[in-house]
Amino acid sequence: MSAPPLGRVASFGRRLPPNLRTVAARLPGSLAPPIEHGTPTPRVAIIGTGFGGIGMACRLRQAGIETFTIYEKADAVGGTWRDNTYPGAACDVPSHLYSLSFAPKTDWTRRFPEQAEILGYLNEVTDRFDLRPQIRFETEVSAATWDEQRAVWRIDLADGTADEAEVLVAATGQLNRPQIPDIDGLDRFEGVTFHSARWNHDHDLTGRDAAVIGIGASAIQFVPEIAQDCRKLTLFQRSSNFVAPKPDGAFSEEARERFRRHPWLQRLYRLSIWVRFDARWLLFRKDSRPARMLRKRFETELSKVVTDDVPAEALLPDYPVGCKRILISNDWYPTLFRPNVQVVTDPVDRVTPHGVVTGGVEHPVDTIIFGTGFASTGFLAPIQVTGRDGRDLHDEWRDGAEAHLGITVAGFPNLFLLYGPNTNLGHNSIVFMLERQIAYALTWIRRMVDDDAATVEVRSAAQADSNARLQRRLERTVCAASCHSWYKTATGKITNNWSGPTIAYWWQTRRPDRADFVTTRQPRRHPVHSGAAGPPE
Ligand code: NAP
Repeated sequence: MSAPPLGRVASFGRRLPPNLRTVAARLPGSLAPPIEHGTPTPRVAIIGTGFGGIGMACRLRQAGIETFTIYEKADAVGGTWRDNTYPGAACDVPSHLYSLSFAPKTDWTRRFPEQAEILGYLNEVTDRFDLRPQIRFETEVSAATWDEQRAVWRIDLADGTADEAEVLVAATGQLNRPQIPDIDGLDRFEGVTFHSARWNHDHDLTGRDAAVIGIGASAIQFVPEIAQDCRKLTLFQRSSNFVAPKPDGAFSEEARERFRRHPWLQRLYRLSIWVRFDARWLLFRKDSRPARMLRKRFETELSKVVTDDVPAEALLPDYPVGCKRILISNDWYPTLFRPNVQVVTDPVDRVTPHGVVTGGVEHPVDTIIFGTGFASTGFLAPIQVTGRDGRDLHDEWRDGAEAHLGITVAGFPNLFLLYGPNTNLGHNSIVFMLERQIAYALTWIRRMVDDDAATVEVRSAAQADSNARLQRRLERTVCAASCHSWYKTATGKITNNWSGPTIAYWWQTRRPDRADFVTTRQPRRHPVHSGAAGPPE
């Protein structure tokens, strides 16, 4: 296999004088020149092969750090895009922005990518950077424990063995544990049930009477697909969604060829999408004028289509625009008006062996599909993470997860989180956020090498300050309005979303402030020259 390509900026950077090199290394998407061959580097254990884990490994390789291992509990890469194979699965962020800036794909077939093409892309990047030899598939991490004496993470695997590494990068995502509500009688249902993220492709829905419980971002994608096959489809919708048109379409051969021939054009196009999407942040400020105008527009358009079967409350949310994700689809509303589709807005009381009961009425069904989302606020669960002085991460987070800029946690040295607390967005690409977190972690790993540091840990005061500011800003966003959303804990603390435009996140993460961290320079007992995370010695 060919050697992984080093980033263009990296090789460009090597030709610059030192002061300009420092400036170039701070630009978004830039990378400092790679570490000299043979320099001892820490072992890095990465958990997960979604966008975060794959992106981290690519950047480590580009930085000349080969001492990494990626742990993946499944038998393939892809994270959420491997798991969510439901009909119609696609992304609502445009293709050219929903990809790694340093691993561009010029031949995206559509403006908004579908699941198979995103998964193909992640597989292609994995091969382009020759990552597979360093991925341990079907290897689930069950616990990670900080060994203070030796300044290493002990990584316990579900098969009973253990590895260790100086640095731990958790790239487990926010949406990987499907949530099925505890509904009375569900265990006695005699039909077939499954969650949207574990789609049962062996269960042919043709001619079936199916129920969908939970109508969110996933359901609005698969419902229009399965409505064509089912005999009857009953949608149990607790809250409605704002569903805007999807400006999708295929790229012509000529457009794809232009992007291939002129990479700068592709980068410019990507930048233009990012700028446009970041401007949508204005919608997410509490009581913002653009959001009020958008709501008015929804009200006007939807009032024209209300019927007895599909009343206003089934169409128009009772919460402000942006409190939950604004969805996009061109076939959602037409699907609601199909003769074989019924929308039920009464709460689900219970399930019988042959149906779903609401308000004393049984709706007979032979299949129940859950579009009820994910356990999103238990970051890193079910991995047991124990930090300095025996601190239990989940116990520290009992009142809601928090981290400094979503990346580092006081009491947990050499741990970096990707897509950690308060880094989700409603208006722009998570891949952009991941790249910022990867750059931040990489800066620290490189500093560990350059300064011969054994540990790096954020100060608790810095973490407390940044979180106090974050929560104050979040209070001024629409996320804080009264709607159910997976951005909040049961007690209402917003643990998932970032509080501003992504450019603000870029600014705050552009260079980790040394004053916010404690590093120790005890002589490393296990200098590592080659090889990745491995069993304890
Ligand atoms: P979701 O958006 O959280 O929707 C879950 C739905 O289930 C909500 O409507 C919720 O109602 C409902 N629900 C939960 N418990 C229920 C219960 N006991 N009874 C009735 N309804 C119940 O979950 P999702 O659709 O899986 O999407 C999750 C996230 O995945 C999205 O927000 C998005 O970030 C990501 N996603 C992204 C894309 C994309 O294109 N980028 C596509 C799909 C998913 P309430 O609102 O009333 O709580």
